Amino acid sequence: MEKTDDQAATQRWSWMEVDREAIRHNLKAVRRHIGAGPLIMAVVKSDGYGHGAVEVARVALANGARYLGVASVAEGVELRVAGIMAPILVLAEPPAAAIGQLLHYELTSCVFTMDFALALGETAAAAGRQAGYHLKIDTGMNRIGVHPSDAGDFLRSLDFHAGLRLEGVFTHFATADGSDEMGVRMQLKRFEEALEVIRYMGIAPGIIHAANSAAAIRYRQTHFDLVRIGIMTYGLHPSDLTRTLINLRPAMSIHARVIDLKSLPVGEGVSYGFTYRSPGNVQVATIPLGYGDGLARELSNRMDLLVEGHAFPQVGNICMDMCMFEVDQRPRGREGRLEVRYGDEVVVVGRSGALEISLDDIARGLGTINYDVACRFGLRLEKRYLN
Ligand SMILES: *Cc1c(COP(=O)(O)O)cnc(C)c1O
Repeated sequence: MEKTDDQAATQRWSWMEVDREAIRHNLKAVRRHIGAGPLIMAVVKSDGYGHGAVEVARVALANGARYLGVASVAEGVELRVAGIMAPILVLAEPPAAAIGQLLHYELTSCVFTMDFALALGETAAAAGRQAGYHLKIDTGMNRIGVHPSDAGDFLRSLDFHAGLRLEGVFTHFATADGSDEMGVRMQLKRFEEALEVIRYMGIAPGIIHAANSAAAIRYRQTHFDLVRIGIMTYGLHPSDLTRTLINLRPAMSIHARVIDLKSLPVGEGVSYGFTYRSPGNVQVATIPLGYGDGLARELSNRMDLLVEGHAFPQVGNICMDMCMFEVDQRPRGREGRLEVRYGDEVVVVGRSGALEISLDDIARGLGTINYDVACRFGLRLEKRYLN
């Protein structure tokens, strides 16, 4: 991998690297897996799962994605302002107050309440326009969407609205990443029944879509016209069940450099609360990366950091902007004593020599999922795009 650490230009000795080549690889792997038929929507909500929405969107669109998915109007506007012209679907209904922006930036909205649909249609019609929308059907996630048995009537009452144009119908699975296959089958059945009613009414549903990453990998019958690929774009697996089914490459890694280093006599405490005390014969090194950068404080004294292919235990409470690790000064057999110096690169997530710490490792330590950890690292760290 090309090294891009331009020390002169860097603001702080901690940063995220995002490997564009990994994203290209993942898009190609998805295309190979789903075949030539379905369109691909790259889901880049929450700043591209922390990776940077604009850069990820550009790479995804250049490598087979035709649509983008976001969570809010503001996220869609950011992509438009960056010059991205691809269709963008806002995956939930925004407040009616956002309709002006939605139309101005030509974002496509999800629709599931009649109030919002009518407000959208009126605003569009008053401007002599038609707003394209996708109907969301709630087939069992019980989060957002119209009830499957109401979908047909909902669309019929909007069918002749001058300001509205139905462009798609979709649903979302609650259990595609788990072992509950019955849940997926139940949701799929409800979705297909609703589609049947819609078609029976003579309404063309447009683009039909249902699959997130897990469903796209595991259930071919959920592909329909388009698959909505979030976590896989970034090279992360939606669950352990997909690891053997598709080869993905994580795009994100997290790095820092040592900004201070000190030898501590036995009994000296480190960081807030002295949750760690020096056992003697150790140095403690500091990096400028803490929970404000996404390194959860719950990991304090419970994780390793990597330097040149060696693992070092993180020690003391993780602070907002910094954390510390222990460098054992005892000689280690043939290798001698491990030395860590000011300015040395520390890998927090990623590969170092033969060792690797993944977002999944961190997620496991926290009792959460890789999605959550990736989003957190997106909060503040400078992002460097490689390749
Ligand atoms: C976030 C999201 C996705 C993407 O899910 P992944 O598991 O990351 O692939 C797809 N559809 C909807 C409606 C979403 O909110």
